[in-house]
Amino acid sequence: MKLYSTRNLNEIKNPKDAIIKGLSDDGGLYCPKYEDIVSHRFDIGSLLSNDYKATAKLVFSTFFDDFTNVEIDNCINLAYNKNNFDEGNVAPVSKIGDNYLMELYHGPTSAFKDVALTILPQFLTTAYKSKGANKKVYILTATSGDTGKAALSGFKDVENTIITVFYPTDGVSNIQKLQMQTSEGKNVSVVALKGDFDDCQRLVKEIYTDNEIKKLCEENNVVLSSANSINIGRLVPQIVYYIQTYIDLVNANNIKLGDKINFVVPTGNFGDILAGFIAKLLGTPIDKLICASNDNNVLTDFINTGVYNKKRKLYKTISPSMDILVSSNLERLLFLLSGNDANLVNNLMDSLNKTGEYKIDDSLLNRIKEHFVAYYATQDESKKTIKDAFENDKRIIDTHTAVAYACLKKYVGTNTRNDEFHEPTVILSTASPYKFAHDVLKCICSSDVDTIDDFTCLDKLNKLTGEPMPKNLAALKTKEKRFETTLAYEECKYFVINNIEK
Ligand SMILES: *Cc1c(COP(=O)(O)O)cnc(C)c1O
Repeated sequence: MKLYSTRNLNEIKNPKDAIIKGLSDDGGLYCPKYEDIVSHRFDIGSLLSNDYKATAKLVFSTFFDDFTNVEIDNCINLAYNKNNFDEGNVAPVSKIGDNYLMELYHGPTSAFKDVALTILPQFLTTAYKSKGANKKVYILTATSGDTGKAALSGFKDVENTIITVFYPTDGVSNIQKLQMQTSEGKNVSVVALKGDFDDCQRLVKEIYTDNEIKKLCEENNVVLSSANSINIGRLVPQIVYYIQTYIDLVNANNIKLGDKINFVVPTGNFGDILAGFIAKLLGTPIDKLICASNDNNVLTDFINTGVYNKKRKLYKTISPSMDILVSSNLERLLFLLSGNDANLVNNLMDSLNKTGEYKIDDSLLNRIKEHFVAYYATQDESKKTIKDAFENDKRIIDTHTAVAYACLKKYVGTNTRNDEFHEPTVILSTASPYKFAHDVLKCICSSDVDTIDDFTCLDKLNKLTGEPMPKNLAALKTKEKRFETTLAYEECKYFVINNIEK
């Protein structure tokens, strides 16, 4: 499968090279062509006996066809096992009200990012070894909270790699911050950047294309790569759970083979929901992908009007992993649905950089609307949804999942047919409620929560709900803080240079 830069069709890589490189030099993201995905459509009925690993193998050998079968098996076994995921179960599906919850938070850091970031280091080191390369891979990662810890955990002491994570000073939850500050491993570092997530993301993209840094890397035998969802090695693992969830729902007699279902996805960088779109192109019977945003509703506006406008205030919310104004992976959707029109994408992204906005034409917008609908939920609506889910559905959900559930309710409210039928819908539950214990507890409990510390919150949530507490979070209490560096934007580049020269 050839991978093209979304901004230049002459920039082509095979999968192993694209995974190592992360982002193309022209700023584009590596992506297959639309027709190359569709030509690999499968018959979902023939996959019903697949378990998660079998579906993962199918997807990985489709997209990463320069990996041998043995290499793919090794990667899967090292990532999707009982050490990393509760009972080895990567994406269990459960019921919530009339709908379903895809529980993606049973991995080592209790967020869905683990699904891709447990396997990306395996892909990367496999690709690297088979090239016989002797350079060190330096992973730079911008995080809105969850990617950072998942990447630090996935790359911890992985041979021939070093990793630096940048998180925004005030944009992450206390628990998220503590998870990163207490990271273990000889090859890891963590920096708090004075700014927001978009600054972190811009920094990383800028460092990739910086000529001084390029030269230094060559001199020091270092190659830069990325663990962000701009890396195709992040995106592809996320396709698997959409397909597997469909299979699981058929096998549990919740739906009939061929029935269409919806997925509602709490969205920030547009990576997770884009993976759902690719699962649809591959033949999964999906009707709508519901793009759920919080108060930062730039994607809601875009999907409804065709105008992407980042010139607005970034709100800090209780769903920090979605506090994003520039959704990187949207670029891949524009590429795919414009018929791989890299010139168009290049112009749009140029306009976004220079003017802060772009507009797509009606025909492209209509193609997007065929597959996507978009809603947003305010902070108050999300809080109420957590309370309602606890009281009515007897489920405890995190602040991001709550945005998705609130948006689903809006979708059902406006799209239910007269006979009250609506398609079965799966909510992607992207984080454990324990990761945002303080805010979740505040929604469901009447006593004063503001004055109690995070660990008391964890215990209280546990007593109140009986939901098992993730071990990695319980263990934070006694861990040493190793990383407390805070840097201004301009200083970060020198931090990176220092690491390259080490
Ligand atoms: C990253 C994240 C999201 C957003 O996913 P994208 O792929 O960036 O759209 C939603 N919820 C949680 C908990 C996350 O960590």
